[in-house]
Amino acid sequence: MLDIASLINLLAQPQKIVITTHHKPDGDAMGSSLGLYNYLIQQGHHVKVITPTDYPEFLSWMPGNEEVMIYTSHTEQAANLIADAQIIFCLDFNALGRINEMGELVRSSKAFKIMIDHHLEPEDFDDYRNWNINACAAAQLVYDFIVNVLHNKALINADVATCLYTGIMTDSASFRLPNTTSAVHRAVADLIDAGAVNWRIHELVYNSASENRLRFLGHCLTNCLEVLPEFNTAIIAVNKYDLDKYDVNTGDTEGIVNYALSISSIHLAAFIVERSDKVKLSLRSKGDFPANDICKKYFSGGGHRNAAGGHSTDSLQSVINQFKLILPEYKKLLIQ
Ligand code: 5GP
Ligand code: MN
Repeated sequence: MLDIASLINLLAQPQKIVITTHHKPDGDAMGSSLGLYNYLIQQGHHVKVITPTDYPEFLSWMPGNEEVMIYTSHTEQAANLIADAQIIFCLDFNALGRINEMGELVRSSKAFKIMIDHHLEPEDFDDYRNWNINACAAAQLVYDFIVNVLHNKALINADVATCLYTGIMTDSASFRLPNTTSAVHRAVADLIDAGAVNWRIHELVYNSASENRLRFLGHCLTNCLEVLPEFNTAIIAVNKYDLDKYDVNTGDTEGIVNYALSISSIHLAAFIVERSDKVKLSLRSKGDFPANDICKKYFSGGGHRNAAGGHSTDSLQSVINQFKLILPEYKKLLIQ
């Protein structure tokens, strides 16, 4: 374990640092990682962001993006960096299984491991953690880490601010979710003052779709949406054939589940997609309904109460059937 004083001492000298985040990184994963990256490089550290897998085009514009290493494309180099690191920051995840094969490399590295995360039930692999499930984003916790733990608010420059703003914006569904507190808005105001151009970031993330992506969304809503009124639940299930037909790329499916949740009577929405190696589920819920409970119990996953994910090696149709069979267990919560 590291106490705050030792951590501050450690960071006072240039260190070899790896920052990593969960596989299939989302806006918060990339925003928090690159926000921390842009902070640390100002202090002379040697920093590398390594992602377990690739990530969407609409997240590939953030300052420092050109320095990101994708593990699956550079396995040997990444393994060496992890083994050599003195500090490894683990952002937006708290279980080593979330970074695929990198998990065991991080576990066996001698580096100090620092977890900055807002998911439930952290695994015990870290030496220091800035962990809070009430935070709306890991990027909010990176802001908190820089301002309140390291007392270095002055180093939040435009690059740091831009990345952290992106993380908070995407994970709070554009400042809409219940955990978007006044403290979040104050932090975000600081980030805008530090140089984050809020309207431009919104454009880059949300208005950068391809024509295919929009037509795919149309297909999902017209042909794949199933509403189950007796459970206040909606499902959008997509097969691999259609993913290929619409040339769906990493990230193109993100957010589609929210359209199903936007129906007023719907309390639980599921997006179920047949990927090449497995079937992936994304669940979203309103209010107190524990979407993460279903993912954890039945689909080897987890997440937050209102946003959770999981997967299965069964066929698409059997996952859909299984999901429907689970609903009666939750009926009381779903129809209240
Ligand atoms: P998404 O539906 O966007 O893939 O994931 C929604 C939320 O659930 C994210 O916060 C993500 O971290 C979490 N999540 C998604 N898949 C998994 C999984 O397989 N395991 C765990 N523990 N969490 C997941
Ligand atoms: Mn997050």
